[in-house]
Amino acid sequence: MNQPDHDLLAAPGPLFLIPHAVLLPEGPAEGCAVVVDDGRFEAVGPADELECRYPQLRAVRMPGRLLMPGFVDAHHHLTQSFGSALAFGEPSEIFRRVWVPLEGALDEESAYTAAKLAALEALRGGFTTVADAGTRAGVDVDVVASAARDAGIRCVLGLVCSDAEGAEDAGPGVLERAEKHLVRYAGDPLVHPSLAVSVPEAATDRTLHVTARLAAEAGAVVQIHVNEHLAGVERSLVRNGLRPLEHLHRIGALGPQLLAAHATLLTPRELTLLADTGTAVSYNPVASAWKGNAVAPATAMAERGIRFGLGTDGTRGDGFRLAEAAEFAQRLAYGLVTGDSSCGAGWTWLEHATRGGADAVGLGARTGTVAEGLAADFLLVDVETPELALSWDLPWELVRRGNRDQITAVFVAGRLRMWRGLPADWDGPALVRRAAELARATVAKAPITRVHPTSTAARGLSRSREPGRPGVPNRSPDGSTVARESSAQDRSPAQ
Ligand SMILES: [Zn+2]
Repeated sequence: MNQPDHDLLAAPGPLFLIPHAVLLPEGPAEGCAVVVDDGRFEAVGPADELECRYPQLRAVRMPGRLLMPGFVDAHHHLTQSFGSALAFGEPSEIFRRVWVPLEGALDEESAYTAAKLAALEALRGGFTTVADAGTRAGVDVDVVASAARDAGIRCVLGLVCSDAEGAEDAGPGVLERAEKHLVRYAGDPLVHPSLAVSVPEAATDRTLHVTARLAAEAGAVVQIHVNEHLAGVERSLVRNGLRPLEHLHRIGALGPQLLAAHATLLTPRELTLLADTGTAVSYNPVASAWKGNAVAPATAMAERGIRFGLGTDGTRGDGFRLAEAAEFAQRLAYGLVTGDSSCGAGWTWLEHATRGGADAVGLGARTGTVAEGLAADFLLVDVETPELALSWDLPWELVRRGNRDQITAVFVAGRLRMWRGLPADWDGPALVRRAAELARATVAKAPITRVHPTSTAARGLSRSREPGRPGVPNRSPDGSTVARESSAQDRSPAQ
């Protein structure tokens, strides 16, 4: 597709698109077309039928392009984007040592820029929706809403509702603020309010119960990190005599309004609780690989009808690589030991990266599928590349061989937002340059403590164990402190 195609796609007014194929819920459909108008799919059906129904529209023919739903990132932290690599090599519960100090050092400009940078990366990677689990930056959450809106991505926007004594992100009047937040974005085409509690122990039982009710009444979700790390599960057992998910169940906080992030450490009983209550999960396979204790049993969840989407947790913003990680992690964690060479096949992971994710974040009636009446959130993918052209099983090929280089265009709410990796109507490279400046300044003043040195320094450390070699410095190039074994932080369990 060339520049004239871009101009046609960027033009205002209805769009009539005839791609090589459309990825429908039942599979790829050749000879299918869509009409996009007023931000939604006005019509989806056989191209010849639509040409008769819409004779006034000029069709844009796109041979070699697949039109598919945009990816949904069911778990993100948009204002953590300045520090992705700061978490590399770190043991679990990095929020205390890295994320809380980093987000605490953000001001309004840097929080906006960090969120917009994350949105840019997400759009480049084919995500048309991101669920933000609530910023810890000391700014109005509307800063994050503005960044998402300005970038052109759909955002499920979490407001942190922590209020337990000692919780690091706790604040007063959380229920009053929650009620206001849930009505704040009424009518906004891109921003959808949500509530968030970092971990169950960060809020009082009453707040967990009431936020569940408020969200359910508003048709919104409550985002909580649940059963992610052994340390968190054991704290809950000591404190409540119950595992985190069991505790949430006891106080009435499970249900279709709950979006449980991670849920990697699940007993058979907890799987049943998820299934019985209609609770949704964000399965975050890259986060498991980078900082986790376990991989969520997602193939089993799919088999049992547990609702779930896929989330990046801010690791990296490439929808195809996320879907691939989802399958790959299942194969390594479960498929190899049981001889399951399918592990849900390609379709399971594509489905949960799109429609399942939209459902999990509370937007199943609005996005996630190419269907009449739903928001026109979609990608145009080049299927003439060497990786995809010789197709035998497109859904699985997209999962295993796809990546963001093959995404020609990204549409959100019917508007062209990204063209060949660049924003269609704003200056992406300028934003990246500014983000790089602000990230240096922010990290330099944030009291971040890392256990792991940078990878180059780690190499030096391993070599220094050889006789006669110098050790690594105590200070990382980014300015953060690198803890030694004797000074590794083990602060109070308050979140
Ligand atoms: Zn998270």
